Amino acid sequence: MTIALSRTDFLPSVVGDDLTVPLVDGTHARYCDLDSAASTPSLRAVADHVTELAPYYGSVHRGAGYTSRVCTSLLENARADVARFVRARAEDCVVFTRNTTDALSLLAGAVPGPVVTLDLEHHATLLAWRDGEHRVVRAGRTVDDTLDALRTELAARPAALVAVTGASNVTGEILPVADVVALAHAAGARVCVDAAQLAPHRRVDLAGWDADYVALSAHKIYAPYGAGVLVGRRDWLDAADPHLAGGGAVRSVAVAGDTTEVSWLPAPQRHEGGTPNVVGAAALAAACRELDPLIDDEVPAHERELADRLHAGLATVPGLRTLSLFPQVEDRTATVSFVLGDLPAGLVAAALSAEHGIGVRDGRFCAHPLLARLTGGDDAVRVSLGLRTTTADVDRLVEALTAIAARGPVWTYAVVDGRWTPTPDPRPLDPFGLGERPGLPGCDR
Ligand code: PLP
Repeated sequence: MTIALSRTDFLPSVVGDDLTVPLVDGTHARYCDLDSAASTPSLRAVADHVTELAPYYGSVHRGAGYTSRVCTSLLENARADVARFVRARAEDCVVFTRNTTDALSLLAGAVPGPVVTLDLEHHATLLAWRDGEHRVVRAGRTVDDTLDALRTELAARPAALVAVTGASNVTGEILPVADVVALAHAAGARVCVDAAQLAPHRRVDLAGWDADYVALSAHKIYAPYGAGVLVGRRDWLDAADPHLAGGGAVRSVAVAGDTTEVSWLPAPQRHEGGTPNVVGAAALAAACRELDPLIDDEVPAHERELADRLHAGLATVPGLRTLSLFPQVEDRTATVSFVLGDLPAGLVAAALSAEHGIGVRDGRFCAHPLLARLTGGDDAVRVSLGLRTTTADVDRLVEALTAIAARGPVWTYAVVDGRWTPTPDPRPLDPFGLGERPGLPGCDR
């Protein structure tokens, strides 16, 4: 007997793979999570590791007790695992942060001169530099035009740093990081790669690209336990004011008269004041260990196959227009944004969830300037595939969109607190019995 194995059989499983969710018609469906660009569920191995380390939880760096020693060792091992995963150089520094936004904000406090970014960036990369000189270069119609625009800008006005995304969180288009590094270095600027969207899908290769810094979030690489990381050259980080000042970041403190005299530790401790999130760091490291052997071949192969099927399927949905800044870019992550005729994106996303059990994202994806270019500022729908997505998931999405395109949503919906919402919504949204509360209004989406 021959047993047919699909690619997902060779990829690690995640917690919640078999989750069923309620639909508005009173039935249930297996949850189809197509929102991995926002956040990924935990790898099973990561969740198991977190459970396994919980009894050993203790305060890092401070205690003489056994659990403190264990947790200190976990944190320092985590640095080594993350460094290996992003192909850091031996002399690079690994600083744990809360997420990519925090990592870029840390770097913003260390960069000794002007910063240049492209206008296609996520707000994390676009806004981090608010206190320093920051210039935004308009991306061209092609990647080559964009590289030329960057080169021209850097030749006209020098910069200390170019910050660039590895892959767009809107179009999935992958940028040629090594080319950006080459042109930036030729102009005397360093490069920070925002790898939040690249790291789950392709190898992050700090040394191979010759890039200077990389930032990423654990919750996008299947370790949603609150950690992020900035990895890169030590000199700016050692010279900078602490990102978080306080205990753990200092060698000594004295009070002289009415002032404090502080001797700060070098990086990474200099920027990690307060009690570190050792669980988050250990979870991130566990995800790195799991993904490291798969990220060069298995993960991209799985996603390319699915992305081809997704693009082919979406092309059959009447009125659906996918968004692309660089249509000629061949290598993309399996993240696709689109508009569906004149249906509001929020309504499409709400119907996918409420009627089909499919989770996607709608909005402007914290990339308002890019959406201004791609949709004139209108919201779009984003579908993002991950490690555990199957061909059946892709087909289910395409069928659901085809149905919505043909006859609109079946249920009734209204905008409630700024979000398209089923009216009524009979789904119990509180599986833990803790009480239902709406999200805060006005959130940038
Ligand atoms: N950069 C990119 C390209 C992103 O897609 C995101 C989040 O979606 C971020 C940065 C910010 O990540 P975080 O919210 O984990 O700080």
